[in-house]
Amino acid sequence: MNDRIPGSMTASVLLTSPARPYPLLEGRFSPFDQMGFRFTRGQDIFTMQEHAHFYGLHLMAQNIEAPARVLEFPSLNDLERELKAGDFSILGITTNVFNLQVVAEMCRLARRVSPSTTIVVGGNGTRCLHDEADRTLQQGRDYDHLCLGDGIAALRDLLGESTHGPVTGRLPLCGSGLPWLSPRLAGNSGIILSGLGCTTRCPFCSTSAQHGGKYVEIMDGHAIFRAMKQYWRTSQGLNFTCIVDENFLNQPDKFQELGRLIRDDQEFGLGRLNYLAFASADHVSALDPEELLLAGVDGLWIGVESLFTRLAKRRDVDMKALFEQLHAHGISTVGSTIAGFDFHTPESLDQDLDYYTSLSPTLQQIAILSVIPSTSLWHSMRQAGRLMGSGDHQQSHLYGETLQYRHFTHQELARRVDGAYRADA
Ligand code: SF4
Repeated sequence: MNDRIPGSMTASVLLTSPARPYPLLEGRFSPFDQMGFRFTRGQDIFTMQEHAHFYGLHLMAQNIEAPARVLEFPSLNDLERELKAGDFSILGITTNVFNLQVVAEMCRLARRVSPSTTIVVGGNGTRCLHDEADRTLQQGRDYDHLCLGDGIAALRDLLGESTHGPVTGRLPLCGSGLPWLSPRLAGNSGIILSGLGCTTRCPFCSTSAQHGGKYVEIMDGHAIFRAMKQYWRTSQGLNFTCIVDENFLNQPDKFQELGRLIRDDQEFGLGRLNYLAFASADHVSALDPEELLLAGVDGLWIGVESLFTRLAKRRDVDMKALFEQLHAHGISTVGSTIAGFDFHTPESLDQDLDYYTSLSPTLQQIAILSVIPSTSLWHSMRQAGRLMGSGDHQQSHLYGETLQYRHFTHQELARRVDGAYRADA
């Protein structure tokens, strides 16, 4: 994006999430309650609930010089009121795939109410626009700019600000818990955005595809460390921080630097500065769990994917031993697996899900294989004529029906996945 906003010196920015009401996934789950939807799904009274925020919007607002206002879950009326009151130069809307319809409505509203406002649409829902058959949002008619990557750099560029300044952020806390223990889920974890994208390019991975298989750094080790300390200084209810980076241990220098800063810190040190990170099995298994602990690792999200996969990141890794070792060292795990690969027959899927359950991850994600533009899997399924529900954005989630499976109906897969969640309870 390099069409600067006229009069950038006096520009102001409105950043918003998709408007409410948002669609319920599978007709029953809030898409913004990741605990209920996936991590503790199907565990009866032990299913947790989560409240979350639109972290990217807050981070962008905190890292541009122009005054900015953030709206989370506005109604269309709220948005109209803000647009009329604010005379905003830029409206930035973030979207998930399943929110695209309402985002199209928001764009139309903004065009009508505030025609001089430049509309920028970003977020992971923009990946659907790689499908040229998808006409939900169109440049010119609905929006002026699409932001496919780093939203801070894109906004700074649009506003004529330096794109090289450091990124800082203290984002609202998210929180999770058992709803019957506490009706109000207080914030207990802080989010830190380290980077976008992943160079490993697993064929089904939409976040890697979104960034063209590249890694985009948002915060270096020092910036992450400062953000972490800021959380601990200012948030009494904080339990841990989560470093958002698709494959954090794939950035060894950053990981080591952060670990050194944490160990040397006199104010909080290793006793407090712990974090959850995402990491692929090959990188985790290359390190001794003691090294992970000494770098501040409290929990790891590891893609198990499948016992039968040939993905390079899993090759030669004994997952069972890895999970056991991590748990023995007090490191919690989020394990994610996928049902419905072409190599899955009814028998091998049972074997795979049993194997996954035997790892006893602390939190779990048992997904149904889904294809999202523009992953390489999506391209091959499109070529094979196996895409389902093209244009039905409500299906674009972990349990949706996006392709014809080789050995299952979608209903059969859903039943097996629900059974595996129950077995893991
Ligand atoms: S390692 Fe994880 S984040 Fe990276 S491409 Fe594979 S699935 Fe995506």
